[in-house]
Amino acid sequence: MSDAVARLNAALEGRYTLDRFLVEGGRSMKAVTRTLAAALALACATCSAPSSTAIVVTNALIIDGLGGPPIADGVVVADGGRITGVGPAGSVTIPVGAQIIDADGGAVMPGLADMHVHMLGGWDGEGVDMLGYQRYLNALLYSGVTTVLDIGSVLPFIQQIRAEVDAGRLAGPRIYMVGPLVDGPNPAWPPLTYSAHDANTLRSFVAQLSAAGVDAIKGYVGLSEEMVDSLVRIAADESLPVIVHLGSSVSPPAAVRSGVRAFAHTPRRDWNDDEVAAMIGRGTAVITTLAVIESFSRRRFQDLAFLDHSLIASTTPPWFLDDLRRFASAEMSDRQVAIATANTVRLMESMGTVKQLHDAGVPMVSGTDAPYPGVFQGEGVHRELELLVEAGLSPLEAITAATRNAAALMGAEGEWGAIEPGLVADLVIVRGNPAENIADTRNIIYVIQRGVLLDRDALAFDLQTDLGSRTVGSVAN
Ligand SMILES: [Zn+2]
Repeated sequence: MSDAVARLNAALEGRYTLDRFLVEGGRSMKAVTRTLAAALALACATCSAPSSTAIVVTNALIIDGLGGPPIADGVVVADGGRITGVGPAGSVTIPVGAQIIDADGGAVMPGLADMHVHMLGGWDGEGVDMLGYQRYLNALLYSGVTTVLDIGSVLPFIQQIRAEVDAGRLAGPRIYMVGPLVDGPNPAWPPLTYSAHDANTLRSFVAQLSAAGVDAIKGYVGLSEEMVDSLVRIAADESLPVIVHLGSSVSPPAAVRSGVRAFAHTPRRDWNDDEVAAMIGRGTAVITTLAVIESFSRRRFQDLAFLDHSLIASTTPPWFLDDLRRFASAEMSDRQVAIATANTVRLMESMGTVKQLHDAGVPMVSGTDAPYPGVFQGEGVHRELELLVEAGLSPLEAITAATRNAAALMGAEGEWGAIEPGLVADLVIVRGNPAENIADTRNIIYVIQRGVLLDRDALAFDLQTDLGSRTVGSVAN
């Protein structure tokens, strides 16, 4: 019996006062609480009532998120919010009193990540619905998305949402953020932008963003090659990576040489061997966002049946779906036709680039750029995975883009993004086998976040409790 448990037993028997127990423990309250919890757990090992905080997924094909071969008839154990055991049935001890989740022959995967979203809300990519934040956070969790990178927002807005989710007062996925874009003198998205003129303004913006706790800096299309170069060096002084969406004046290989951490969209071009080698040498990643290019191409609107999928229909205000249906079926202007045609080409070329760079060893990271027409928070990731498979990745490679590769982008592979002991227990359980049919990632039965089974019905869009907000204005220039 440990010293602490002996003292606790003595206290319980009245030989010790609790005060004396606490004082003699000579520890912080936190340590004492831990000791008490451990002692009570020991005491209850012989109780009849379930006392375990463990949650166990049984009868599941385990897709580990690392790209390894799936484990058939697997068991995943989580306790205290972390994964504590993984393996075939029989090889993993199931804690007494654990909550058992029977996957019924389906698959368990890590929670998915969308590393290119904008939490400003709405559906068309220009108007915003900031007051509707909870419906978007809910849609992400409902769809098994347990991590996002908000890659352009109004700083205090995204700061507060992240703080409230972190504090547990708002339901939502783990949020990484860049705050506003850092753009040149004529910003494309003025309300979401710090507009830089020179290295001094860059330095001042990076200092402000660092103080605000951003996870990365987003460099935008108006920056010159010199400005991108300066931004990377200045951000490195604050230990912040730079993710870029380049304009036509900066070539992607030049940005790689500058040391950008990632491209916010697939940098479409034929990369020569030296350029690819430079990407691999530098560890440059690509956030793929094929979903938004598909949106611009309008390919997805040829058949609007996809809007009936539960990941969309159960999470989206019906008035947004009405707006989208009107948008998708309206007669297009010549200019709109030209844009759609150009983006049809761009989609095919981007898929070619994804395949080329992936095969060479450049990490692909799933991102969608939600919201845009037909690109939804939550469902968008599942669409992105399908598009990655269409580009030529295997289903397991596509899933890895939304799991391990996403975590690695943020330097968090020791924290989340795989089914490995020690990592946070963010898990999605689906019917079917996504390792063979990527569309099966959509067939979600359960979502577990930090070791807790979520009530997906409570996350679904509800006319009775939703604020009813509509979009307003436009954040585009
Ligand atoms: Zn974006």
